[in-house]
Amino acid sequence: MIDMADGHTVATAVVGHEGAVGILSALGPAASAITAVVRVAGTASRVSASRFHAAFSRCPAIRRAVQNHVRAMLMQLQRGSACNALHPVEARMARWLLQFRDRIDHDILPLTQQTLSEIVGVRRTTVTLLMRKLRARGAIRSDQRGRIEIDGPRLEAAACECRDIIRLEVEEVYRSGGPTPRTVTGDAI
Ligand SMILES: [Zn+2]
Repeated sequence: MIDMADGHTVATAVVGHEGAVGILSALGPAASAITAVVRVAGTASRVSASRFHAAFSRCPAIRRAVQNHVRAMLMQLQRGSACNALHPVEARMARWLLQFRDRIDHDILPLTQQTLSEIVGVRRTTVTLLMRKLRARGAIRSDQRGRIEIDGPRLEAAACECRDIIRLEVEEVYRSGGPTPRTVTGDAI
């Protein structure tokens, strides 16, 4: 998440078990303007920046994994920038919901409308309006008490093409660019 000077927040990227948060610390200490928020409870591994930096320096496999993750993250950020500039907010919200769904592999997303407004960068009332539209077309089955149940195929129809493009590009990075990403059932950050 990025916090703007006027108090607004907006999501820039989503990371699951295919990657890691704070991975650029492998390149050396640096301040970051990013706020990482855990949206879905789960299990994660944590390592200090200094230990990770040491492992990065001596292990080619870790360097490859970091390079792949950075490339995948850049693709997501570049595609996201284009999407934010060009695509309607309803399609973008559908894209974000699917990006979460891809990482937890479940059709019930533990997200509130307030959280969605922070992620997409729109007012809460706009989220309510968009959710109503998505429910009308069957893309959202229910939205109660911080649990949003989606209909995957219908939500895909409502989303812009960016979700598929980002997913395919990221899969290609991990397939052709180095080691297969670690997969741990049930975790997401
Ligand atoms: Zn888009």
